[in-house]
Amino acid sequence: IFKKDEFFIIILGLDNAGKTTYLEAAKTKFTRGYRGLNPAKITTTVGQNVGGITYSGIKLSFWDLGGQEELQPLWEKYYAECHAVIYMVDSADRERMDESKEAFDKMISSDNLHGVPLLVLANKQDLEDCMGVREVKPIFNQSADLIGRRDCMVMPVSALTSAGVDEGIDWLVECIK
Ligand code: GDP
Repeated sequence: IFKKDEFFIIILGLDNAGKTTYLEAAKTKFTRGYRGLNPAKITTTVGQNVGGITYSGIKLSFWDLGGQEELQPLWEKYYAECHAVIYMVDSADRERMDESKEAFDKMISSDNLHGVPLLVLANKQDLEDCMGVREVKPIFNQSADLIGRRDCMVMPVSALTSAGVDEGIDWLVECIK
């Protein structure tokens, strides 16, 4: 039986959602000896960051792609290659929630992402005034028709404190392995 042992996961979402911070948190958690960048030094993604982790014998390669509007057309180029998508949402930025949902809808409308599991992360749960997962979930569930039958889950996370990072990756690995 052919068993895949390397998977590509793209991390998308608007600029400032926390993609780079999340990738650092995942690398810090799952890479022995890796201490990570100082969060204060992380700047918003322009272009791409790549990071790999090994998770119960499976290699996961993450691509964190820039979220600025002018960079969003580049996302499409990665769709055909990826095994899963992590979509980061800044749960504390109520003003940009619609914009984030629009970018999500556009993304999942692509034929190249057909059937690819989607993990929507309601990030920045450490901030007191953020929207909880109970508020974020219905917003993204409005796109049920576009999501169709692919696996899709909305989970809470704080990339800054690493809370919820394991649970999200557990879920994704169950979907793709
Ligand atoms: P990106 O543009 O999506 O890659 O976002 P960054 O990872 O650069 O993060 C944007 C800003 O949000 C930075 O100031 C981060 O420190 C901050 N940030 C990211 N994740 C969290 C989080 O979980 N909680 C809080 N409070 N701030 C976060």
